[in-house]
Amino acid sequence: MSHTPAPTAHDRIPHWIDGAAHLALPEAAAGASQGVFNPATGQVIRHVPLGDASDVARAVAAARAAWPAWSDTPPIRRARVMNRFLALLNEHRDALAALITQEHGKVFSDAQGEVMRGIDIVEFACGIPQLLKGDYTEQVSTGIDNWTVRQSLGVVAGITPFNFPCMVPCWMFPVAIACGNTFVLKPSERDPSASIFMAELFQQAGLPDGVFNVVHGGREVVEALVDHPDVKAISFVGSTPIAHSLYQRGAQQGKRVQALGGAKNHMVVMPDADLDGAVDALVGAAYGSAGERCMAISVAVLVGDVAERIVPLLAQRARSLKVNNGMVAEAEMGPIVTREALARIEGYIALGAQEGASLVVDGRGLQVPGHEQGFFTGGTLFDHVTPSMRIYREEIFGPVLCCVRVPDLAQAIELVNRHEFGNGVACFTSDGQTAREFSRQIEVGMVGINVPIPVPMAWHGFGGWKRSLFGDTHAYGEEGVRFYTRQKSVMQRWPTGASKGAEFAMPTAK
Ligand code: NAD
Repeated sequence: MSHTPAPTAHDRIPHWIDGAAHLALPEAAAGASQGVFNPATGQVIRHVPLGDASDVARAVAAARAAWPAWSDTPPIRRARVMNRFLALLNEHRDALAALITQEHGKVFSDAQGEVMRGIDIVEFACGIPQLLKGDYTEQVSTGIDNWTVRQSLGVVAGITPFNFPCMVPCWMFPVAIACGNTFVLKPSERDPSASIFMAELFQQAGLPDGVFNVVHGGREVVEALVDHPDVKAISFVGSTPIAHSLYQRGAQQGKRVQALGGAKNHMVVMPDADLDGAVDALVGAAYGSAGERCMAISVAVLVGDVAERIVPLLAQRARSLKVNNGMVAEAEMGPIVTREALARIEGYIALGAQEGASLVVDGRGLQVPGHEQGFFTGGTLFDHVTPSMRIYREEIFGPVLCCVRVPDLAQAIELVNRHEFGNGVACFTSDGQTAREFSRQIEVGMVGINVPIPVPMAWHGFGGWKRSLFGDTHAYGEEGVRFYTRQKSVMQRWPTGASKGAEFAMPTAK
């Protein structure tokens, strides 16, 4: 192993264009950068530039210039660069995880898990020679062969949310780049350092300049990327209103778009479920990462008499959650990403009480000693939530678990299927037939049976249904390879004798 030093976090985070760090131009207007907070302390720890269309133009031009040579590079040589990147990521994964905890707030062990799940996809992308193998049919007609190949698209762009600053970009760029595309990433402006850390490691791995670029910013950068004529495909992950509007904007221009949106994930607990296991699963999946996961469980669907037995256990666990700075070893839950997000979450808790749900545990106003300025809230538990309440219908994206009571499995399935989101779902039961029927009938993209957060492994692909994903293909896995390549069919004949003359009928196998 090489033991190279880990990239250091920049106080002024640069864009990464054509293999080099670019700070915002000094003459850039005030307001063209913003503070990045450590949410545990509430302090600004560094600054990120808010780019504009000219930064996008420079990054896309670099990516466009790098594409011919990179797409011509044999897949096995692209895979070797990916392999070196994999080794460097593994070498520096704890430094990357610490950076994530510092800017996002999630506990360090959770950040380590996120980095590992990102690394899994880099490892998957190392298999690109096998994944790009085409199909070949010899002798489709006399003397004619037909085969298909998958070719890269050109420059592709990725726009990612704050909640997984390493893993979600890794859903996109390793697969896209392994396929022969060049890439422009627009990470979240809330926790942008992880993307620059990865860009620097990728360069150390031998990636040619211009193949991977990072431009920071908000809406202006995103729209400039979607509208740039040289950007051939857009991958987006974030909230549903933005996912939907970018999907429409890109599709209107004839571009490929996969836009993953928000979620409201249910976990159905059947009366025959292992109760202790279900409590552990609900507490981890509702309050882990402060509920800021697109696969977090935010609704517990309690079937039959389960509610009476499980709600007191959940309440006890919610009250005793260890909330602290994510770098404190025993912390189970860190702070919320921003002050604004904290206000939104606590606003929903007030709303739920007004709407008539039972507020069993109220996490509002939590103070963590030594971190009085941090953006903390505790775990919140509501019971007797009904489908008409906004706390049930809308994505809160915080550590708030809503319990809905239903009499039987059929009504549990109907409830889940009626919801506008369809990202993830879980069913806890000890009955195989219940599990089978549940997974067949449920209208959700990712299903867990006694698994609360069923995020598919790198080679299976990730994607929700309904308003949790706009587009035809899921992220990463073989779906990702299909998204980042287009199929070409070649039909070939090498005639040996004289031409048989013009044929006016549709050719068939002869
Ligand atoms: P967000 O939608 O606010 O931001 C996502 C990205 O879009 C960021 O890069 C942001 O800078 C950019 N953006 C913000 N406003 C924009 C605008 N008006 N036009 C264009 N781009 C804009 O999401 P977030 O708060 O960073 O992340 C949380 C959301 O992401 C939640 O809704 C969560 O469910 C969702 N999410 C979904 C998945 C999934 O796989 N379905 C995964 C992770 C997160």
